[in-house]
Formats: sequence, C-alpha cells, structure tokens
Amino acid sequence: MRRISHWIDGHIVEGTSGRSGVVWNPATGEQQAAVDFASAAEVDHAVAVAKAAGSAWRATNLSRRAEVMFHLRELVDANRKEIAAVLSSEHGKVLADALGEVARGLENIEFACGIPNLLKGGYSEQASTGIDVYSIKQPLGVVAGITPFNFPAMVPMWMFANALACGNTFILKPSEKDPSASLVMAELLKQAGLPDGCFNVVMGDKVAVDRILDHPDIAAISFVGSTPIARYIYETGTKNGKRVQALGGAKNHMLVLPDADLDMAADAAVSAAYGSAGERCMAVSVVLAIDTVADDLITKIAARIPNIKVGPASEPDNEMGPLITGEHRDKVAGYLAGAPAEGATIVVDGRQGAPADGFFLNPSLVDGVAPGMRCYDEEIFGPVLLITRVGSYDEGLRLINDNQYGNGTAIFTRDGGVARQFQYDVNVGMVGINVPVPVPVAYYSFGGWKASLFGDTHMYGPEGVNFYTRTKVVTSRWPDPSTSRVDLGFPQNR
Ligand code: NAD
Repeated sequence: MRRISHWIDGHIVEGTSGRSGVVWNPATGEQQAAVDFASAAEVDHAVAVAKAAGSAWRATNLSRRAEVMFHLRELVDANRKEIAAVLSSEHGKVLADALGEVARGLENIEFACGIPNLLKGGYSEQASTGIDVYSIKQPLGVVAGITPFNFPAMVPMWMFANALACGNTFILKPSEKDPSASLVMAELLKQAGLPDGCFNVVMGDKVAVDRILDHPDIAAISFVGSTPIARYIYETGTKNGKRVQALGGAKNHMLVLPDADLDMAADAAVSAAYGSAGERCMAVSVVLAIDTVADDLITKIAARIPNIKVGPASEPDNEMGPLITGEHRDKVAGYLAGAPAEGATIVVDGRQGAPADGFFLNPSLVDGVAPGMRCYDEEIFGPVLLITRVGSYDEGLRLINDNQYGNGTAIFTRDGGVARQFQYDVNVGMVGINVPVPVPVAYYSFGGWKASLFGDTHMYGPEGVNFYTRTKVVTSRWPDPSTSRVDLGFPQNR
C-alpha cells in the first residue's frame, strides 16, 4: 500500500506515531494509500524546524522572496496537468474542475509576487517639528494552515503564498482525505528556491490540529473547513493567544427574480449546484424562486440535469465526479431520504442510476423546501439543489439574512436598481449579481459573514497580507543635542 508521509525540512519524513488514515480512490471505492497521522511530538519537530528557518527567511530581501514566488508561479503553471491529476485521483473531481482549482490557486501566487509593493508602509514627514512617523509590516514568525478536503491545492495556496512572501515560515496540516497535493506543492516550493524548513507539511487528524492550537511557537492559524470545527479552532486558538482566521461552512442562496432570463438562471443554478458534486463552499444550495416564475424555472433546471455526465475523472467528457467518501455519500443521500416526510418533493432523485462503483450520487432537485426542514437548516455539501418558493424579493432577502451562514449569495435579475439594493441589504460576505459562484479574485479577499467566518480578517488578497503581518509604528527624530532638555509633560505636537 502506498504510504503518504510528512514533509519536514525539505524532505519526506516517515511518520513514527503508528497511526494512519485511509486515502480512498472515490471513483472506485478502493483504498489507494495510507496517510501517516502525526503525533504531538512530530508536530513539535516540524515547528522547531520552521522556527529555526525563520530568522534567515525573514531577513531574506523582498526581491529575493518575490523571485521565489515568480519561480513557483512558473512551476505551478508548467505542472498544472500533473497537479490536477493528483487532485482528481484523491478528491474525485473531474479534470476540468481540477484545472480550474489550480488556476484559481495560481492567482494567489501571482498576487504574492507583488510582495515588495504590498509590504510598503506609510511615512509621515514632519509629524511634529523635526519628528517623522512611519509604519512597517513585519512577519509573525511560524504560522499554520489547516485545510479542508474540497480544495486540496487552492486553499493551501490561499494561505502559504502570502504567508511565506510576508516572511513567515509555514506549517500545513492538509485534509487527511486527499493529502498528496500538499506534497506536490512542497516539492515545487523547494524547486522554486524556498529554503528548507520554511514550508512543512504535517499529515494528521485532531491530534496534530490540537498540538498546533496549543503550540506556543505558532503565532497564527488560518483554517478552512466546517463551521463546528472552525468555531473550535477560533475559540481554542485565540484562548491560546494566537491570531486566528477560521472560515466555516455555507448555505448559499440564489435569488431569482421574475425579470431574470430564466434559461440563464437555470444554467447558472445547475452549474453552481452540481459542479464539483456540490462539494464547494460557494456552491449554490438553495434557489429562491419567486412564485410567478418558480414552475418555469424548476422545469428548466430539471430538464438540464439528465445531460450532466457523471463518472470518473479518467473519462475526459465527464462533468461531475463522485463524493469524497462512502460515508459522506450516504450522509448526503440521507437528506434526500428524509425530505418527503418533512413536506418537500423530490423532483429529481440522484440516488437512482448513479455509477455503481465508487462514491457516486447523481444530481438531485428538491422542491417545496422551507426553513425548519433538516435539508434546509443544515449544510448538505453534495449534489442536491433545493428550491424554496417565495412571494417577493423581501421574503427572499429575509430568508438569506435569517440564515445562520453568510458565505456567498447571488441575485439573478435584469434590474440594476434591485441588484444594487440587494448588494446593500444582504448580510453575506460575497455577493454575485448574475454570477452564481462569486469567488473574489486574488487581489480582493475571500470570506463570509456570520457562521461562515470566525475572526476579523478575510483570507488572501490585501486582508491576507494584513493577517500574516503585524504593524510597527516608529516615531523618530534627529535633533540637535543642544536643543535637548528634560520635559515631563505628555508628548504633544509642537
Ligand atoms: P472539516 O471541518 O471536517 O475538516 C477541515 C480540517 O479540520 C481538516 O484538516 C481536518 O483534518 C480537521 N478536523 C476535522 N475534524 C477535526 C476535529 N474534531 N478537531 C480538529 N481538527 C479537525 O471540513 P471538510 O469536510 O474537510 O471540508 C468541508 C467543509 O469545509 C464544508 O463545511 C465547507 O463548507 C467548508 N469549506 C469552507 C470554505 C470557506 O471558504 N468558507 C472553503 C472550503 C470548504
């Protein structure tokens, strides 16, 4: 059985804890590898290595750090297909989707290439007579990233590109379900010229995470995953004095107004609900259809579903792959099983006709869904699209704002005034106007509101640079010593 181990100090380090996890091939349902699970002592070793590498990396000049990012950019670009193949084999997503993940991750490396500009401070000459004030951004030290299964390359890139470029060293604890992409990135970072020890990967589960949360030498933690774990990471990490940004789950609503182009809305809903088998935190989970157009819209969505090609990534024509594990597939199917008893109607049942091998579930469409039903209240994270019929824009907006999550949302309309009002009113961090999966480009920042994000700072982009640095403000003067005197008064401008 292939064994997947840690990456510490620039090379693979086999685990010694005696604990490991199963890495499935979701397209066949067979185990393809075992991944080592780190003990607390193995995490300690990785942190010690990262700490030791930190002073030299922090002192490395900005041009050189940018050069490493430029090299990395070229290497990831040249290896897109290889990285995508690794993603497909362990996550199950089809190749086109995996290539999209690599492309969106690459944007973050490109952003980090501008680090000399991004780390510019401010300077105020003559803030007081003969006194100048300036601010500088300094790295935090050793920082950690804990990442989910659904974007095993992109989400780590959201974090480590800025963290390293800012002069920190990094510990990545990737999802144990699809850990290999992190080792590919470690190898590419090494080839790009990043000194050994600056980027380390510890494989593992709660034991590794808990040690990261406790470790006194880890200054900050970036987390992406489900809401209960995000809350736990935020509460424990901040209690231990760390800076934490913890992104959680989602239930993204797409509001379709009667004036929208319904074919375009149906295309968008189908693409955003079933892409990556619905295992995206920005997937559309609920379409809020205004009553007058609901029947038409549902008919159009249902008509598109049979055309979606479901199957393994090895067939280039396939558009939707399996779910991550058999357990997760069964959990998603459980929401479908429970929906009719709660009063919903299954329009398309994805439990029927899915490929027999592997963890497949076909796309499903459920109508008549309302708050209070389990399928509405909980994040499903699978290829299930819910329809909730609403009487008006106001009713749709209220449902979105009442939802515990606030990651992404979209409005489909041809009325610019209503769209602008929606953008103003809605309590959600990322909004699409006729755009169903509004993942911000890398020079903005990514983050939801409410239970979709714990912490103050969104991820990547300018907020990512702020997260991975702290600001120091220097007040300086170079007076003529002959003007010096004792003055016990509080300093004021003169
Ligand atoms: P998860 O919360 O199960 O796991 C995320 C990470 O936490 C993994 O590295 C895992 O090993 C670790 N972990 C799991 N259980 C833990 C525990 N009890 N204690 C400590 N660590 C633990 O999430 P997942 O299933 O890998 O990913 C899917 C979830 O991530 C969905 O809820 C999805 O919405 C969310 N997600 C959110 C965003 C976002 O940007 N908001 C992006 C991607 C995914």
